Amino acid sequence: MTQRAVIIGGGLAGIAAALRLAEAGWCPIVLETRKKLGGRATSFPDQRSGQALDNCQHVLMGCFTALLDLYDRLGVTDQIEWHERLYWYREDGGVDLLKPGRLPAPLHTAGSFRRMKLLTRAEKAGIRRAMWKMLRGGRGLRGTWRTRTFGAFLDEMRQSSEAIRLFWDTIIISACNLPSHQVAAEHGMQVFQEAFLGSRWAGTMGLSTVPLAALYDPAEALIRESGGELRLGCSVREICLEQNRAVGVMTGDSMERGQAVITTVPPDRLGKLLPEDVRRNDRRLSALSRFSFSPILGVHLHWPTQVMTLPHLVLSGRPVHWIFNKGVDEHGRQHLHCVISAADEWMPLDEQQILARVLDELKGPLPETVGLEPVSVRAVKEKHATFAATPEIEPDRPPAAPGAVGVHGGDIESLYLAGDWSATGWPATMEGAVRSGYAAAAAASGTPSGIEDIPAARVARWLGVDR
Ligand SMILES: Cc1cc2nc3c(=O)[nH]c(=O)nc-3n(C[C@H](O)[C@H](O)[C@H](O)COP(=O)(O)OP(=O)(O)OC[C@H]3O[C@@H](n4cnc5c(N)ncnc54)[C@H](O)[C@@H]3O)c2cc1C
Repeated sequence: MTQRAVIIGGGLAGIAAALRLAEAGWCPIVLETRKKLGGRATSFPDQRSGQALDNCQHVLMGCFTALLDLYDRLGVTDQIEWHERLYWYREDGGVDLLKPGRLPAPLHTAGSFRRMKLLTRAEKAGIRRAMWKMLRGGRGLRGTWRTRTFGAFLDEMRQSSEAIRLFWDTIIISACNLPSHQVAAEHGMQVFQEAFLGSRWAGTMGLSTVPLAALYDPAEALIRESGGELRLGCSVREICLEQNRAVGVMTGDSMERGQAVITTVPPDRLGKLLPEDVRRNDRRLSALSRFSFSPILGVHLHWPTQVMTLPHLVLSGRPVHWIFNKGVDEHGRQHLHCVISAADEWMPLDEQQILARVLDELKGPLPETVGLEPVSVRAVKEKHATFAATPEIEPDRPPAAPGAVGVHGGDIESLYLAGDWSATGWPATMEGAVRSGYAAAAAASGTPSGIEDIPAARVARWLGVDR
């Protein structure tokens, strides 16, 4: 008989788990509160602009192997546009280009980095020193620094406050949604070891050319082909247990049964689906309340005319971190999207106040916006955008599978945990979410997860980046 798995949540982790289980011959039943798939990486119809807008621009990298595998299964890989060049706006008004040259990784960006006017010679020398340390230290270095922040590592490498503000934090805040002095050192190092030093392809930036929600359109048919179901607008109220085994979930007044239950909801939501005494006994669930979150603000602006020609700008050391050029429509209106990560101080502001601050920030990099009114504005605040990947929370990120029977005693059998906050080895990213879904599906079905890291280029490997 086909085995049924109940999957709570239709974000990336839920979609990934469903497709992997379907492939393993299981029947996945996906239950999603909202009327659409994608969770935190999705889009919505915006009445003001008349367009489908992403809740926020989502960036992927060449090293996102599991996400790319999922896009491949969905048949949407050709909807991703790749950018090798990064345009950095300097406070003096100029633009630096960071791009791979002819040399092999890890030296592929060395030439353009040398030409960047953003940093002084001394700052660049300091950055090279820290990069060299991470290159030679490999994965072992991450282990050594497990209990400390990336900022502590930068301090030990004697990085100046300007180098941190203009270079390190510009990258780390965007990649990890926390500044260097808060994020776990292992994630900061991972960003540079895998995306910057490991290989040329790993650091290439991918952007969807269609609204994010459209990427998941093929998922429903794939789930149904396996005999599974996708139920949108369906909230799970409770995970049902018999003795210490998960046997299904309650939605409204009915129970959905399954041989396995996979939850992909964030930790604060999961805490509400199980009674406290049960959570206390499962070593994976006892620390749910210790997770904290970091917000992201995305601001969509539509302009009456074209105000930007470059595909994007990284605003180094500025309060607005990125401007993405989303194109000009048939009426000549240009859509820009501004992203502010680790946006705690922006959260109390209303849309008018946000707009005033953003317009002020655009004056330098986009002088054509001065004196021009945007035709439509939409600010999207995501207060719980990502869990805060601090060193303190790392040991509390739970594995997918319950502990072996008799060893930990209390872990709930047949309950599998997924979501970007679980123990993926990644900060909160689309890649982490997909890896978690694959890992939970593999644990439930007893099949290999098939997750593979991107191999480092020959010279980078020889120097030790992945040791
Ligand atoms: C503004 C913003 C910008 C981001 N930018 C990037 C980026 O550039 N690059 C990147 O890699 N990552 C980015 N991320 C992170 C990325 O979006 C997440 O890591 C990823 O989408 C998490 O997927 P998930 O499936 O683990 O969780 P979620 O997407 O949260 O999915 C969980 C799902 O469960 C559903 N649910 C909750 N409770 C219930 C219930 N009781 N019953 C049924 N369903 C329920 C929710 O509706 C949701 O759909 C960003 C996130 C945000 C918010």
